Amino acid sequence: MSDLKEGDRVGIGWQGRSCGECEWCLQGENQLCQDIVSSGTWVPYGGFSSSISVDNRFAYLLPEAMPSEVAAVLMCAGITVYNPLQSLATRPKQKIGIIGVGGLGHLALQFARALDYEVTAISSSPKKKKEALAFGADHFISEDESSLRNAFFRFDLLLCTAHGKINWELLLGTLKRNGKLVLVGFPDVEFNSTNLVAHQLSITGSFLGNRDTMREMLSFAQEHGIKPKVELMPMEQVNKAIQRLKDNKARYRIVLVNNV
Ligand SMILES: [Zn+2]
Repeated sequence: MSDLKEGDRVGIGWQGRSCGECEWCLQGENQLCQDIVSSGTWVPYGGFSSSISVDNRFAYLLPEAMPSEVAAVLMCAGITVYNPLQSLATRPKQKIGIIGVGGLGHLALQFARALDYEVTAISSSPKKKKEALAFGADHFISEDESSLRNAFFRFDLLLCTAHGKINWELLLGTLKRNGKLVLVGFPDVEFNSTNLVAHQLSITGSFLGNRDTMREMLSFAQEHGIKPKVELMPMEQVNKAIQRLKDNKARYRIVLVNNV
């Protein structure tokens, strides 16, 4: 049974199905489905297909005023950052450092601001400072040795949205005792255990969110005016779009509009 009806405008995220039988599905945490690779993802045509059939549990009614290209990005990058930010927002004005100002990071800055964190953007490109502040950061730190040393013991939380090589020793130094690092990107990871133990730090990953959190995220974003910055390109230019992405030129997400 579904409460959707013919003609409804729905959005579909990274996950389109789940097995419905494993311990995680039975707890309502379908994004952790034990069988997610074969039963949850868009094989073989991915997001580039012109039509799909989908398990109605993973088709979400979109807020009426929300443009489709906004929903498209929120339902992947948005839920990825909203889920940990929302669940860790246990008291006001916690100090959070968002590592990386890109596709995930520019949304994390907006959500963190709206969830009442004191937000610092941490980026290896100092030229992103202006934009990071415009997205909602209270502060900006360049990811170099002296700036990070100046920020030692500053943050309750770090959310890492970046990929690639990261100076973990300095970054972990910016966490307060009992601090927590949450990974949502896929960086290379190498840790020195001393600070982890002596400062009692925790490191965790976070993956998408469950169906209730997805619905909540969509209405929260709509209510707080949270929007990804997108470039629209027609589907027929898909190869050009992929090249822009590979060249690290997408600001901050490319949405393909189906015209074929
Ligand atoms: Zn399952």
